[in-house]
Amino acid sequence: QIIFVPREVDAAEARVAASPETVKRLSGLGFTVVIEKDAGANARIPDADFAANGATIGSAADVKSADVVLKVRRPTTAELKNYKPGALVLASMDPYGNDAAIAAMAGAGVSAFAMEFMPRITRAQSMDILSSQANLAGYQAVVDAAYEYDRALPMMMTAAGTVPAAKVFVMGVGVAGLQAIATARRMGAVVTATDVRPAAKEQVASLGAKFLAVEDEEFKAAETAGGYAKEMSKEYQAKQAALTAEHIAKQDIVITTALIPGRPAPKLVSAAMVASMKAGSVIVDLAVERGGNVEGAVAGEVVTTANGVKIVGHLNVPGRVAASASLLYAKNLYTFLETMVDKETKTVSLNLEDELVAATLLTHGGKVVHPNFAGVVT
Ligand code: NAD
Repeated sequence: QIIFVPREVDAAEARVAASPETVKRLSGLGFTVVIEKDAGANARIPDADFAANGATIGSAADVKSADVVLKVRRPTTAELKNYKPGALVLASMDPYGNDAAIAAMAGAGVSAFAMEFMPRITRAQSMDILSSQANLAGYQAVVDAAYEYDRALPMMMTAAGTVPAAKVFVMGVGVAGLQAIATARRMGAVVTATDVRPAAKEQVASLGAKFLAVEDEEFKAAETAGGYAKEMSKEYQAKQAALTAEHIAKQDIVITTALIPGRPAPKLVSAAMVASMKAGSVIVDLAVERGGNVEGAVAGEVVTTANGVKIVGHLNVPGRVAASASLLYAKNLYTFLETMVDKETKTVSLNLEDELVAATLLTHGGKVVHPNFAGVVT
């Protein structure tokens, strides 16, 4: 069977869905792996590295014979025209609010897997693209903040005087926030963090940062069974804003990562809070693609406010560290695909009963099959 890895058509996407390591493993399993020319060029993987590990370098049209397509972004309608009906497509599908794109994949007859729906269970940890990419986004957020900040982050005592340590506040400490804390600490900043889930408190402390939150009864019940945050009440949000407002005014860098599954990102930093910060301070809003945590953040832009605060709203932050992000993303896809490979026949066979398949399969046999979209999207 043939596995095809295209060059991403979105010019803003620097990642690639295969690495020399995953190509080697897939070839070892008996597959013919075809990589589109220059697919890894922006992720610092030259064609020669893929070829040296068993891949054939091909063109976009080679997708026509592929049984499996590994991608970063979901296929466009134009791309789908060349896909073989029945082909398996593994990608970050970004399905919410994109009904037409889901319908197009069903129409093309492909079996499309939304990798972001991978259950967060022990067995699937190595297939979890949200975690592998959020971890790097948290790291890159601090690098981006340091770049925009016109001062040094660590305290430096020199013969010519002392540079004070930067104060960094991380809002939302899931996977991205925890890595942001760890990175800012490594760079010598004084770090504080907040979240609405009680479990975050201990994790923040274990990284050597200080935790700040309204710890009332609602806070104690804010974590869902899945480990995510609930949307907090208006009353809680007001108390949280009162507590954080004073703190934010004293910060040099604020990094926000707060998300609520299926809901717009909570607004945590108001325009008044931004206005309270010193000129030269930096805010990085990692939630900007989901509506943003910061008032005034603009997706894809670095905005400077009237009082000289920079609000960073870069899109596709994992793509800004594409070489590392691609290696981990490729491994996530490989690990999942491997669970579907019949070792004797050396072919991929789909078991619709498997919980990982059931959780991620969006379209199959010409239909939308995922419970969140079946019947809604036709
Ligand atoms: P996420 O991206 O959904 O949200 C980021 C953070 O924002 C979360 O910590 C959330 O509590 C916080 N948040 C939401 N609303 C907020 C508000 N109003 N104020 C402040 N913070 C707010 O989260 P994530 O990174 O996907 O992690 C979610 C959970 O899943 C965590 O408990 C994490 O440890 C867990 N997890 C488990 C696994 C696994 O078991 N395989 C893998 C990854 C993550």
